[in-house]
Amino acid sequence: MSIQEEFGSLVFNTKTMSKYLSHKTYESLLATMENGTALDATIADEVASGMKTWAMEHGATHFTHWFQPLNGTTAEKHDAFYNPDFKGGIVASFSGKELIQGEPDASSFPSGGLRATFEARGYTAWDPTSPAFIKVNNDGVAVLCIPTMFYGYHGEALDKKIPLLRAQVALAKQINRVAKLFGVPGDKRPFATLGPEQEYFLVDAEVYRQRPDLVQTGRTLFGVRPARHQQLEDHYFGKIKNRVLSFMAEVDKELWKLGVPAKTRHNEVSPAQFELAPVFEEQNLSSDHNMLTMEVLQTVAERYGLVCLLHEKPFDGVNGSGKHNNWSITGPDGKNWLSPGKTPHENAQFLTVLVSIIKGVDTYAPLLRATVASAGNDHRLGANEAPPAIISIFLGEQLTDIINQLEKGKPTSTKSGSTMEIGVSMLPPLPKDATDRNRTSPFAFTGNKFEFRAVGSEQNCATTNTALNTIVAWALDDVLNQIEALTSKGSDFNSAVQSVLQKEIKDHKRVLFDGNGYSGDWEAEAAKRGLPNLKTTPEAIEAYRDPKVIELYKKYSVLSEVELESRYVIEKEKYETMIALEANCALMMAKTMYLPECISYAAELADSCASLTDYVHTGVSALAKSAAENVEKLTQEIDKLEKAIDSGDSAAELAGMKDVRSVVDALERIVPDSQWPVPGYGEMFFVG
Ligand code: ADP
Ligand code: MG
Repeated sequence: MSIQEEFGSLVFNTKTMSKYLSHKTYESLLATMENGTALDATIADEVASGMKTWAMEHGATHFTHWFQPLNGTTAEKHDAFYNPDFKGGIVASFSGKELIQGEPDASSFPSGGLRATFEARGYTAWDPTSPAFIKVNNDGVAVLCIPTMFYGYHGEALDKKIPLLRAQVALAKQINRVAKLFGVPGDKRPFATLGPEQEYFLVDAEVYRQRPDLVQTGRTLFGVRPARHQQLEDHYFGKIKNRVLSFMAEVDKELWKLGVPAKTRHNEVSPAQFELAPVFEEQNLSSDHNMLTMEVLQTVAERYGLVCLLHEKPFDGVNGSGKHNNWSITGPDGKNWLSPGKTPHENAQFLTVLVSIIKGVDTYAPLLRATVASAGNDHRLGANEAPPAIISIFLGEQLTDIINQLEKGKPTSTKSGSTMEIGVSMLPPLPKDATDRNRTSPFAFTGNKFEFRAVGSEQNCATTNTALNTIVAWALDDVLNQIEALTSKGSDFNSAVQSVLQKEIKDHKRVLFDGNGYSGDWEAEAAKRGLPNLKTTPEAIEAYRDPKVIELYKKYSVLSEVELESRYVIEKEKYETMIALEANCALMMAKTMYLPECISYAAELADSCASLTDYVHTGVSALAKSAAENVEKLTQEIDKLEKAIDSGDSAAELAGMKDVRSVVDALERIVPDSQWPVPGYGEMFFVG
């Protein structure tokens, strides 16, 4: 099969649908998929039957509703197509009802208190806007997967997909308002677009298995950076080693079969770190595809004796992994609305959207920050690494200049050439990528889209995109209301737009920052500007309890107060559980792996000193002393960590882990490599 034929071959896409469904059913389903019209229940049986036939031809014996519960992963429960025919045999069937709705027991999924108020029952409902696909495991087992929403008895959202879909509706409504106001032609459904760049690490499976910390927590809790790591800057975009390239090629192929438009692959900054970027798609689909991509990376890695690490910070001292969330809006005219247009009219529309994004991000920065909060991502945000926890926006030189001119308003002096008037002057043409790349900004305009870089590599990007859509919907709503209020009082449209945008820029320009986001100066400057700097998850998730955020999500029907509170509770629990789990793992390793070996070595050194009494051995005795002292210190730090675990306080656990680690790492520098109980960073870094 050619690549073209293979692309989407495991997806029940329009091509497959047209083959397996009658014309009428096909048209009706297509309308639902493309325009979001309500699903015609009478066609469900035929769709299910067509899907079943197709899936069985690919060897599938089971189907599953594939959903995204609040624990941040994907979930599946398989059901066979087969039922007894009561004549001693079986028949295959798959009904419309089974396609549309499932009823998994929700009681073991986190509900964050939603269960206290509602029944434990959970429902899955088909999301026809994301096509069904067939997942094949490494042994060829094929399962039909139906992307679904997951909700409780009273319709409360128990997943990450429902709020995203709701936020898309809110955004689309405001985009349509903009379109109407600015006379934009076209009647297509507006939608947000997403292109998530995915970073990951690869380690050899043999080595991985010998590191209980990697196996249990996804990151190394101990370990010393080897002499050679990322300082030569030779890994980024470097030649891809054979095993890794073969792995990547197979990942691409598997993704293409699943209809995921994998596009770019390269070595990343840290040794053993890599990136995969797809071509952007409609946001809900792209978000699903990112979940699938993470799964395919891990599945294919197994075939190459590798393990794919999606944790945000698997190794200390080198770069962590994120997800660059490239986000834009496609309007009812089918155009990308973050591409500045060529006419003054298009520019006014572009500037209205741009200024609204600035307003939304500035006003709700803590919410955006909360959506990327996790124990893993805390090692990136708020640590000395990209991007900082302070949410600021990078616009680049040209747009910053335009925004400055717009703020100053109508020409008033001889410098008139440098001020802008909506509807009269126009934007200078902005070549795509004229903007400097600013890698330190968490929220950067990159030519025709915004790139939010704070999402963690392991996270479901639906949470962030839910917030992004909603805050932009809110800001547009407010800006449009102001414009309409002025025009209804008789103000000319262009001057109304001009004066509203001017005011908004004045109010929100504090969030604009083009400089180095890693510098200490910026931290001080941001504090002066009143920008929040929420370094840890416990601080960041408080945003979910902010009345302003509760009101926002309620107003746009994205999450009710109870639903939002459940997210707070779940994230808090998840964080505390993860830290406790790490602390317990660190304790176990320190006590049962490092300490015994270090005691033996210290004793060996002491013995050597004793048998060397006839000689001068100041160096050896100094070594013996240092080893003995560190071993003693280790026992004390272990005690402290144990107490911290007993206290159940995450901050104490983190501090305890840090102290145990620093002694173990000091010992790793002196204990012979052959005696060290686990493989070191050097063995994990240079996967080939
Ligand atoms: P970088 O240099 O940051 O890696 P690229 O130009 O390779 O940037 O694009 C990064 C991602 O941005 C890709 O996934 C790409 O598809 C996506 N992207 C491009 N245009 C849009 C858009 N209009 N909306 C959303 N994502 C987009
Ligand atoms: Mg990028």
